[in-house]
Amino acid sequence: MTDYGAIYWLDDCGDELARRPALAADETVDVAILGGGFSGLWTAYFLLRANPGLQVAVIERHFCGYGASGRNGGWCSPRYPMLIDELEKHFGAEAARATIRAQQAIIDDIGQIIIEEGIDAHFTPGGMLSVARTQRQLAALKATYAGYARLGLADDTRLLSAEESGALIKVSRVLGGMKTTSGASIHPARLVRGLARAVERRGGRIYEGCEVTKVRPGQPAMLETTGGVITARRGVVLAGEAYLSGIPAYHRQLLPMSSMIVATAPLDAATWDAIGWQGHESLSSGAYTKDYQTRTRDGRILFGSRGAPYLFGSAMPESALADAALYGPIIENLRAWFPVLNDVPITHAWGGYLGVPRDGMPSVHFDPARGIGNAFGYTGRGVATTALAGRALAGLIAGIPEYVPDLPMLHAPGPQWEAEPLRWIGVRYIQNAFARIDAADFRDGSVPVDAKLAKTLAPI
Ligand SMILES: Cc1cc2nc3c(=O)[nH]c(=O)nc-3n(C[C@H](O)[C@H](O)[C@H](O)COP(=O)(O)OP(=O)(O)OC[C@H]3O[C@@H](n4cnc5c(N)ncnc54)[C@H](O)[C@@H]3O)c2cc1C
Repeated sequence: MTDYGAIYWLDDCGDELARRPALAADETVDVAILGGGFSGLWTAYFLLRANPGLQVAVIERHFCGYGASGRNGGWCSPRYPMLIDELEKHFGAEAARATIRAQQAIIDDIGQIIIEEGIDAHFTPGGMLSVARTQRQLAALKATYAGYARLGLADDTRLLSAEESGALIKVSRVLGGMKTTSGASIHPARLVRGLARAVERRGGRIYEGCEVTKVRPGQPAMLETTGGVITARRGVVLAGEAYLSGIPAYHRQLLPMSSMIVATAPLDAATWDAIGWQGHESLSSGAYTKDYQTRTRDGRILFGSRGAPYLFGSAMPESALADAALYGPIIENLRAWFPVLNDVPITHAWGGYLGVPRDGMPSVHFDPARGIGNAFGYTGRGVATTALAGRALAGLIAGIPEYVPDLPMLHAPGPQWEAEPLRWIGVRYIQNAFARIDAADFRDGSVPVDAKLAKTLAPI
């Protein structure tokens, strides 16, 4: 029996998700952070790690890990939010190389920090495995590899034949693959909940069930919340990702898109023998409608995909993520990948909202004159990047040069999204076109006439 809307990671995170108290009166701190996800908590963590005397408060509307950080696919991935060829095109080879190297290095840092902090986040350094299931995907995989090789970044990556891919995992219709040794899978809810406890151990305060209703720039900047006004001597941090679109001043900064995941029941040994996947890689193909898969420590397969249709006005109701009808095609796709799972129950099906910036590039920025810092815009690839962003933002606020890398993500928030109804028309068109491109590709390898247009319009 599938529990629609139930988030496997939160069910399995080992704590009761009991709410911490909300802010109960006006308060003054050094740094006030909106958002108890990875971005907000990594920022708090690195601020306090470098500067134990600092007064840092995190304001979270629900509970730490409520947002994408507690619901994602668990890929702690060396793949940056902006694709390698786009990075190179917009920022040059050197900046692209530095970005990927920084992304790889932060994964090792996360692995180290969770040991130091005693966080049992199921960190499994299995790397990544991309498989091609159509000729188009195979050509795209080879082009991606060529991009990494051209920049001297392919030392951890190799292309695989169909037979070599099949030796690692039994997926239907595979024509070839690409294996990358860097990258890990993690239990995101255990990481985000553990990080919150680490922040508190280092003296940070966390208020839950407390919503920021207004951001007041200035010296000092302030956050108006449902529990009182919090004044921040050094600055406030906006780390609300997709949910920031709910604050009028930031409504068009990030586009909220959903992504959805289904989880199988734990598989028995015979099923795992039939599938293989002993390397525990983070698994995907090159479909435009996206698929991302993770093998959990208790022996489930999580199969993720693009989510629900974009809603007018960037609405993001939780109820849209519990609609059983939206999960049917994802479950069907999972069983097409792994026919051996035909009779295996799907226990959980959930979605979450991620934030897409108009220029496709995350933004990490601190404006001392306005007292406003931000870390957002990861387009569904933020598990590793949020740590890089949080450390950089902590460095900008507290003046710690070794925390602040020279990377293109260190820039003020990019352009705004179009006003409605243009936004709705454009995004719905791209969602629809990507589904048609994949369907035609799988059917007979044909390409819809508007494929190029759709790819040009999409920021990711
Ligand atoms: C289904 C799904 C699968 C994904 N899979 C992957 C993956 O496998 N690998 C990967 O790298 N990335 C993945 N991502 C993306 C990744 O999870 C995010 O990029 C990352 O978690 C963003 O963290 P964050 O802290 O910036 O935002 P969030 O985790 O969304 O946290 C923002 C927090 O701010 C709080 N908040 C917002 N507004 C307010 C307010 N006004 N007042 C108080 N609090 C507020 C929210 O309640 C929320 O807890 C996925 C995302 C989704 C949705």
